[in-house]
Amino acid sequence: MAQKTPPPDTKVDAPESPKKGKLRKATEKSARKDESRTETTRSKATDVRSSPETSLGRAVPPTKSDTLPSEKTPDHKPEKDTAHLAAAIALEEKSARKALPKVSGEKRENAEPKKKSPDAKINRADEKKQLKLVPTVSPAKPAEAEASSRDLKKSPYPEEIQSAPISDTDTSSIPEPIAAGDAKTAEQTPSEATTTGATPAPEPVRQYSKPLEKPEESPEPESVSLEPVPPSAIQAEPEPRAHHHASTIPSMYIVQITPELAPVAKVGGLADVVFGLSNELEIRGNHVEIILPKYDCLRYDHIWGLCETYGDLWVPWYGGAIHCTVYFGFVHGRKCFFIEPHSSDNFFNRGSIYGFNDDVLRFAFFTRAAMEFLWKSGKNPDIIHCHDWQTALAPIFLFEIYKFLGMTHPRVCFTIHNFKHQGVTGTQLLQATGLNRPEYYCHYDRLRDNFNPHAVNLMKAGVVYSNFVTTVSPRHASEAKDQGQGFGLEPTLHIHHVKYGGVVNGIDYNMWNPEIDRYIPHHYGVDNIEEKYKNKKVLRDRLMIADNEKPIVAFVGRLDPQKGLELIRHAVFYTLHRRGQFVLLGSSPDGQINSYFWSLKHQLNDNPDCHIEIGFNEELSHLIYAGADMILVPSQFEPCGLTQLIAMRYGTVPIVREVGGLADTVFDKDYSYKPLNERNGYVFRDYDYSGLESALGRALSCYYDYPDHFREVMKNAMRYDFSWKNPGQDYLNIYDLIREK
Ligand code: ADP
Repeated sequence: MAQKTPPPDTKVDAPESPKKGKLRKATEKSARKDESRTETTRSKATDVRSSPETSLGRAVPPTKSDTLPSEKTPDHKPEKDTAHLAAAIALEEKSARKALPKVSGEKRENAEPKKKSPDAKINRADEKKQLKLVPTVSPAKPAEAEASSRDLKKSPYPEEIQSAPISDTDTSSIPEPIAAGDAKTAEQTPSEATTTGATPAPEPVRQYSKPLEKPEESPEPESVSLEPVPPSAIQAEPEPRAHHHASTIPSMYIVQITPELAPVAKVGGLADVVFGLSNELEIRGNHVEIILPKYDCLRYDHIWGLCETYGDLWVPWYGGAIHCTVYFGFVHGRKCFFIEPHSSDNFFNRGSIYGFNDDVLRFAFFTRAAMEFLWKSGKNPDIIHCHDWQTALAPIFLFEIYKFLGMTHPRVCFTIHNFKHQGVTGTQLLQATGLNRPEYYCHYDRLRDNFNPHAVNLMKAGVVYSNFVTTVSPRHASEAKDQGQGFGLEPTLHIHHVKYGGVVNGIDYNMWNPEIDRYIPHHYGVDNIEEKYKNKKVLRDRLMIADNEKPIVAFVGRLDPQKGLELIRHAVFYTLHRRGQFVLLGSSPDGQINSYFWSLKHQLNDNPDCHIEIGFNEELSHLIYAGADMILVPSQFEPCGLTQLIAMRYGTVPIVREVGGLADTVFDKDYSYKPLNERNGYVFRDYDYSGLESALGRALSCYYDYPDHFREVMKNAMRYDFSWKNPGQDYLNIYDLIREK
């Protein structure tokens, strides 16, 4: 048992001076705090479900004669996302009248020791924990605005391509799921499954990873450059060569089609994933290109050598075509194509990436444009990797249109970063995108939404048509398929289970590295962790919070109900009550949520131990990861979560709910089955105040009472390898599995 010693950072942190105290007068503090606000309107999809939504943990893949899921009686009512918040406010106000609950130490019921195999890559499907969480889906919203006047010209396609010559019941265009060994024999096509009425037994979610080979010199990247490479661009941003890996898989040509890319177009983790994965794939000798929209709000200061590369791209749209220009540029060494449509629809010149009524149409257009560009420019990638509902139509375009125009080689991997947003819209989308046989496409086996028979579901299209589907952690893959977290896609995931799995995201170690991070003033590593506390002081100075012995608990993320808003709010007050400081950085496209956090900010503005920053601020987020002692991630559901991975890299101890990727990456200091030196944070199970307090309370107690132990947890977290090394290999294995050999 360690002796009680001062908290870990007391050597560096000077006690607060009276002068400094004066500095924090309310007026001055408000003035400075308000300076750096940046409101970023950020939103995910606009869903237009019009039938009651329900958790589908109970659902069974229907036969053709079955009643539609939407026609069944829903077993719970739709719930508006912000209802959680209202309830939380009421609860909080009620509890504020009482004294804050006394902490009852460590609550075993919330973090029981697990007696499971310590296999790090857990196959969780056999772990059928009945989580209390029942996710809800956004309520119905009006269909997206009709496309306004367009710059159209007659479609360049022969008639037979526009309406492909396949009968309405023909599913031959849907790619056969490709899986290793026995998976192939167990395979059923969607139509087989539906006609036989077979209910696929819940399958373990597969982890498609081969053990890494012994590292040796990796082959040089193929020089397959298909476009002019501005020499200035190459000099400006040398290719990072942080680490090399051997691979027995021959190099591939991979195209990522994505709505987000860090740091030029970032809303959430998807942006980081596309950048980090592409970087890793190139380091391993593959040729990677990224296609994204040319938003007006791109961070152009991070694009090198931007130049026009294809000036005359006509993209089929509503029976005509829209003229587009394609630009090429490097984003920190990654080769990127930016598509700019010239149309009065003004798809990507709106000041932000998401948040518009016609989001589904905007991204359907982008995906069609990306495929058209690949075809017209003669590109023939081995793999097309698309992400989330925004680009989920890529495989249907490939296998229903471009295959018949000669693009027979590429195979498609589809990654789902968030099941909550699926891109559900009216059937006019089919007409817009040139999928001209509504009765064929709007079929339960293909695009028809599992709830609403009059809507199409883009994410479902991605699942049905892709050669392989991943989500971003094995735990979440299982939760989505078997535990009601698929937001209605459970039956579809069951039907396509042989081509479905989970890969935990990595983080880009060039971007997130406390030893070289250019956004933090004091660099440090596991061997000189004391330097971290100099960043803590800088963070305090910047946010005008007191310089004292207290630990800083932080939250960084989207202020979305998914992130556990009521628990975040509760954590603010609980931390202050337990002699901690709280720093929050986040924003929401939802006005109600935003104004709620603005009022919380005003309420706590004069508190010297708290700072709430509403907005998106990449630079500040780095300083918070480096300066905070703990990061809080109390999500309702979390497909992977990057904030806890980044925090651990910076020696900031995560306090997380045991769900999704959080459960796959954070292991409780007191109760984990892992050896002591692999325990890297605090975990709670129940989504309620006492669950949160059980973990946060233990972390705060440890910080004060056993600082040496706390320091060990920090170091354990820093020693974990959350780079793209392992997930990069996993994705290569998947690509290799599905590629045309
Ligand atoms: P999600 O993808 O659900 O938004 P993740 O945890 O996977 O959540 O990824 C969030 C990423 O976005 C992290 O890199 C985090 O640092 C960043 N981020 C989220 N909100 C903000 C913000 N307000 N300012 C700066 N970075 C943010």
